Amino acid sequence: MDTATPVIPERAQQLLEQLPTGLLIDGRWVDASDGGTFAVEDPSTGQTLLEIADATSNDAIAALDAADAAQGAWALTAPRERAEILRRGFELVTERAEDFALLMTMEMGKPLAEARGEVTYGAEFLRWFSEETVRDYGRYLTSPEGKSRILVQRKPVGPCLLITPWNFPLAMATRKVAPAIAAGCTMVLKPANLTPLTSLLFAQVMQEAGLPKGVLNVVATSTASEISTPLMQDRRLRKISFTGSTQVGQRLLAAASENVLRTSMELGGNAPFIVFEDADLDKAVQGAVAAKMRNMGEACTAANRFLVHASVAEEFTARFAETLGALKVGGGTDPDSAVGPLIDGKARDNIHALVTEAVEQGATVAVGGNPLDGPGYFFAPTVLAKVPREASILDAEIFGPVAPITTFTTEEEAIRMANSSEYGLASYVFTTDYSRMVRVAEQIEFGMVGYNTGVISNAAAPFGGVKQSGLGREGGAEGLAEYTTTQYVCIPDPYAR
Ligand code: NAD
Repeated sequence: MDTATPVIPERAQQLLEQLPTGLLIDGRWVDASDGGTFAVEDPSTGQTLLEIADATSNDAIAALDAADAAQGAWALTAPRERAEILRRGFELVTERAEDFALLMTMEMGKPLAEARGEVTYGAEFLRWFSEETVRDYGRYLTSPEGKSRILVQRKPVGPCLLITPWNFPLAMATRKVAPAIAAGCTMVLKPANLTPLTSLLFAQVMQEAGLPKGVLNVVATSTASEISTPLMQDRRLRKISFTGSTQVGQRLLAAASENVLRTSMELGGNAPFIVFEDADLDKAVQGAVAAKMRNMGEACTAANRFLVHASVAEEFTARFAETLGALKVGGGTDPDSAVGPLIDGKARDNIHALVTEAVEQGATVAVGGNPLDGPGYFFAPTVLAKVPREASILDAEIFGPVAPITTFTTEEEAIRMANSSEYGLASYVFTTDYSRMVRVAEQIEFGMVGYNTGVISNAAAPFGGVKQSGLGREGGAEGLAEYTTTQYVCIPDPYAR
């Protein structure tokens, strides 16, 4: 690995200089009320990229004041008007794709090619929901006894708090902001403190797209709970949508109960990647690389446990290890880099500890297995073979470029092993037997199943999990429903005398 400090490309430097660094409250970029700032760092160098405003609880309440004041008029805007704003947002993000990609690479570490992929995926939520805005249908029917008419209409749920994680800085924001705009909700967005810069650029772009003041307010902060607690206690807030760890999600769910808030929780995952004996191994290896290495494994959908039929385990392991071993590790702005740094030193050390423990428990290292020299927080792409079933690496959300492989011999056993996790977000299955596809989908306890592919995310599909992976769905028609509430209107029989 080349350990020289990467040079920030000139365009990236300009971008940083032009980026708003304040809080967006009621359409204006302002400093934190106490003048505080915090540093955002480049994980490939450990160097500070920018100091930005650090919101206080007073700022959070000011943001909710603005969202609340804007809510009434925003709810009454024509769906077409909201759709056009989203469409312009899609076009502007797409025009500035290279800026968004650079910024994400700098603050998050993912290679540029992956960051470009995230821009396409993230922008798609703006386009998809611009199209859904004008198709938010209700219902009208005659009551069974004929005495009244039943009108069912959907209304915006009200001001929302949107909290996003650091791993997909654009897509996690657009996946929440776009349906909230489509539904006619106003919002306070709190981006992750490790990667808030992309949200600042995105908010600026949405202002340019014509979003009225107060609809989207952005409060980046280094003290998340100081912001979320007063907001969630405030009766004007009507919903929280959170993406992040299960641990924080559980705390927020408890806090949401006090104020009876609508909740959407996209939490942790522990995706099984099942390779049956009839699988096309070329496809399985290709899918395994995509499902494991996207975002350096720092994805809730990342394949976390490889369950491989004993008859093909040796060949799959050798081919997978060879492919991962050939990937170039380096800073994200290096065009040849396929694997960037982890988000911080803590993440790297946790992953190293999991690998060390698995080896102590009997796993063998097929490739990688160790952290790489800095600067930056790099870890070698790793395949662990013969991982014993009781190894804790199979239960933990690894969130790094490490693939533990374990074996099974029957379909029932594979399903049982897959379902043995407390998580239930994404799952991947490789088989060429179509009856098996139906059987597995019916029995596997996961919100999403991908057959013969390592990439399943799509703006038009309902993304979400069961069990400790969360509540609610993002994307698809379901993603819009999360931001609406149902009102029943009883209309008297028009023929009654
Ligand atoms: P995290 O839970 O530490 O943080 C997520 C967000 O919550 C951040 O904005 C953080 O600042 C904020 N936060 C932290 N503590 C808080 C508190 N007490 N009150 C209010 N907000 C608080 O998670 P992370 O490390 O940013 O992200 C990684 C996790 O996110 C992984 O578990 C991953 O699986 C999950 N994730 C899930 C999905 C999904 O769609 N299911 C997508 C991406 C990431």
